[in-house]
Amino acid sequence: MITFEDVSKLYPRQTTPALRHVSVDIDKGEFVFLVGVSGSGKSTFLRLILREYRPTTGRVFVAGKDLGRLHNWKVPALRRQIGTVFQDFRLLPGQTVYQNVAFALQVLGRPMREIRQQVPATLELVGLANKGERRPEELSGGEQQRVAIARAVVNNPKILIADEPTGNLDPATSVGIMKLLDRINRRDTTVIMATHDSTIVDQMRRRVIELDKGELVRDQKQGAYGNL
Ligand code: ADP
Ligand code: ADP
Repeated sequence: MITFEDVSKLYPRQTTPALRHVSVDIDKGEFVFLVGVSGSGKSTFLRLILREYRPTTGRVFVAGKDLGRLHNWKVPALRRQIGTVFQDFRLLPGQTVYQNVAFALQVLGRPMREIRQQVPATLELVGLANKGERRPEELSGGEQQRVAIARAVVNNPKILIADEPTGNLDPATSVGIMKLLDRINRRDTTVIMATHDSTIVDQMRRRVIELDKGELVRDQKQGAYGNL
């Protein structure tokens, strides 16, 4: 699903690369934790998958496409296959939960009958079936993140990228969010989650990829947050 082939990324006017010679394969349906201290290159890794940047050298493939050769006009089609979730939720304030999720399908030009079917089904999936008429500011942090996840997966993307999705949540709420991400992963969505949450990584025992100063220093099948 995702392949990095000897990828390095040097940002303009920087002297040290954000990623150095990273090679990795992530298969369809995998759940991968991306760990490493702040500045180790996690966001750069995720942004290359979204084609927010191109690699300086090396190649990134997503769903069979070489992103370095992808025309700009094809980038929206790439991003439709990738749902994104962030630490700070990024919901539309003043819009209901239903509208926040429906909007993701409206911008894709999906027909109304599909929206009427998919939005309630997705709110059900994330455990918010009875909160469609609430607004984000009326919801707890955990509920807001569930709305953000619903919005990210409502068009059934192949890949879900989550950048510190539990970073603003207390431990009990975080466990609920992880159960939800696990459920989404079991529906065959490839999940890549950047995190500093060692408790969660240690509990889930999924694949762990660790970056250190831009280098891939660890890739473990059922890893922990730290090297055991
Ligand atoms: P992480 O997500 O692990 O904190 P980043 O990928 O954000 O790491 O950063 C890796 C390195 O690249 C850091 O040294 C950071 O300062 C640098 N960097 C990140 N984004 C940019 C940018 N847009 N322009 C210049 N340097 C950047
Ligand atoms: P927690 O502390 O468990 O994260 P909250 O105490 O913030 O959650 O919220 C508990 C419940 O009350 C949630 O179901 C939330 O939707 C509801 N709620 C919280 N604030 C408001 C509000 N201002 N208006 C309506 N409902 C709210």
